[in-house]
Amino acid sequence: MSRAADFSSLPKPAQANLRKLGIIDAQGLLLHLPLRYVDETHITLVRDVRQGDQVQIEGEIVHSEVQYRPRKVLIARLQDDSGQLTLRFLHFYPSQIAQLKVGRRLRVFGEVRGGFFGWEMVHPQVRAVREGTPVTETLTPVYPTTAGLSQASLRKYIDWALDNAALEETLPAAVYTDLPGYAESLRALHRPPPDADLYALQERSTPAWQRLAYEELLAQQLSMRRHYAKRRSLGAPALAPSKLLIPALLASLPFALTGAQGRALTEISRDLAQRYPMQRLLQGDVGSGKTIVAALAALQAVEQGWQAAIMAPTEILAEQHLHKMQSWLQPLGLEVAWLSGSQNKKARTQALEAIASGAAKLVVGTHALFQEQVQFARLGLAIVDEQHRFGVQQRLLLRQKGQPEPHQLMMSATPIPRTLSMSYYADLDVSVIDELPPGRTPIVTRLVADARRDEVLQRVRDACLQGSQAYWVCPLIEESEVLQLKTAEETYALLQASFPELHVGLVHGRMKPAEKQAVMAAFSRNELQLLVATTVIEVGVDVPNASLMVIEHAERMGLSQLHQLRGRVGRGAARSSCILLYQQPLSEMARQRLKVIYESSDGFEIAQADLNLRGPGEYMGVRQSGVPMLKIADLTRDEPLLHRARQLAEDLLRDHPSAVEAHLQRWLGHAAELVKV
Ligand code: ADP
Ligand code: MG
Repeated sequence: MSRAADFSSLPKPAQANLRKLGIIDAQGLLLHLPLRYVDETHITLVRDVRQGDQVQIEGEIVHSEVQYRPRKVLIARLQDDSGQLTLRFLHFYPSQIAQLKVGRRLRVFGEVRGGFFGWEMVHPQVRAVREGTPVTETLTPVYPTTAGLSQASLRKYIDWALDNAALEETLPAAVYTDLPGYAESLRALHRPPPDADLYALQERSTPAWQRLAYEELLAQQLSMRRHYAKRRSLGAPALAPSKLLIPALLASLPFALTGAQGRALTEISRDLAQRYPMQRLLQGDVGSGKTIVAALAALQAVEQGWQAAIMAPTEILAEQHLHKMQSWLQPLGLEVAWLSGSQNKKARTQALEAIASGAAKLVVGTHALFQEQVQFARLGLAIVDEQHRFGVQQRLLLRQKGQPEPHQLMMSATPIPRTLSMSYYADLDVSVIDELPPGRTPIVTRLVADARRDEVLQRVRDACLQGSQAYWVCPLIEESEVLQLKTAEETYALLQASFPELHVGLVHGRMKPAEKQAVMAAFSRNELQLLVATTVIEVGVDVPNASLMVIEHAERMGLSQLHQLRGRVGRGAARSSCILLYQQPLSEMARQRLKVIYESSDGFEIAQADLNLRGPGEYMGVRQSGVPMLKIADLTRDEPLLHRARQLAEDLLRDHPSAVEAHLQRWLGHAAELVKV
């Protein structure tokens, strides 16, 4: 690939430092792009500066001293042909005192501010020069770097790569029509000419930036679509549409499917009838009714003599699925098996037998489902609820329980903005349930400062005495699980003491699964009116009579977490409220999050706001997802490029496989095959 650019010819310590930045070859150096730029191509006269300018000034030191009061500071004065500039250092080394001795000729770079004694610069960059030393000819790039690797050396290595590495195009020229070439773009970004538009460069909106963002998006789409195609080339059981079981279940339900549920089911049903494995994500806001769609999909497999499995991330959620599935499927004469880490040996052995013999048509469970001992007779469909809670590897293990490859349905209650799902889920087909079942009353959200806790307690008591039920969610304490538990237990004791007339329960992540289930079951039966909980209730819990939720320290929680928690109420016909208790003072970020959750109850809108506030990298574990991360492209700014890349990827994969290979090699290098399988 690269002619003379042999990375191993660089000094060993430099190689080690570059590796820390993830750079392992000359291409990596080329694609290590500047964070920002500084303009050292001109020298400005002191007379011409304006407040706030970033400028370079050259002159001679005419005064230099260390003052000790009120605190230690190094002050020097630099004289040019037009005036004087004060240089101020609050931290400095002895070497800097020497560098700033009277009589030295220096070029200083920094922001000028008007001080009491005229213009000054605090902590400028300083460079010793001789009279007539030429200024740099390009804007100076500033790179992300690591301890032990100076900007100057990094620039040197990148220059080396620009001069020696191959900068050829990977994809056919037609791909880029309106954008500059690869080599030209890299030069424009690493060595921008003095007349370049500094603002556009910093904003990453120049054609050169666009070109590289597009390259990167193409790499991402190509790699994900290639995985999609690879999985599609596997064989799967073609499951003909159901004639008996689906109509029978639909007829037994007390409700009709919503339009959105019906559309999702049609898409799934069509996929299941194919000879290759379905790879579909079912997205729908909390409470949109994904579970029944999953049950109906399972029936299509069962009717053709195959088994289906549903895996959920927590025992509480899995158990709830079990009850629903049993109530729907048992009347149809179908056996539902249960597998969890906490069940006793006898129950487990029985379940394993029923799964292996094929007697169990549907298997519901937790992580226990993909353990080694679990042998399915004929697994035709694997359903994963709250799929983002599982790792890539775990989902893979479940799929491997089928022979041939089972169809795969993933579900997520975390709505994802469209751009992100095109990027994050580029290797899946997506069905969206964008409509809630009718008859839900909207949840009223209130923000209440913690100082007004007593009023909130009163409100909880009133609601419970009038026959509804309430959740009290304890604060998230990320630093310490022990502390979180302690807080939950204290809150529980306190609320029990405050409400002698109510039955109060406690559920937290450290309880044994059986204890947890007992508490949840008691709450479902309305034997407990108030449930004190840690964030374990975040996913899936469905108790329609619960109409009030209090969330303590709501300012510590993320948007999607708040949205999921709030979705535990508003599931019945009663008017529901969610009270977000917050502690002042609020950080700006927390204030914005609370504003979003207060103003919106639409999961997609909240997800978009979350993305805008946090940026895609921080968004719901995208980093752990196995999806190649974007370093240059920005899904908000570069949305049009993403659409283009998405459209083009299929054509390129079909018509130019070797070009695609070269492109992925450049962008993902050795990681090209590490993305999810
Ligand atoms: P989620 O999508 O969050 O998993 P669930 O599947 O738990 O939502 O459904 C939430 C509630 O709505 C359940 O009690 C379910 O039985 C009910 N439900 C589902 N679909 C409909 C519908 N079409 N009409 C009325 N209620 C429905
Ligand atoms: Mg659910």
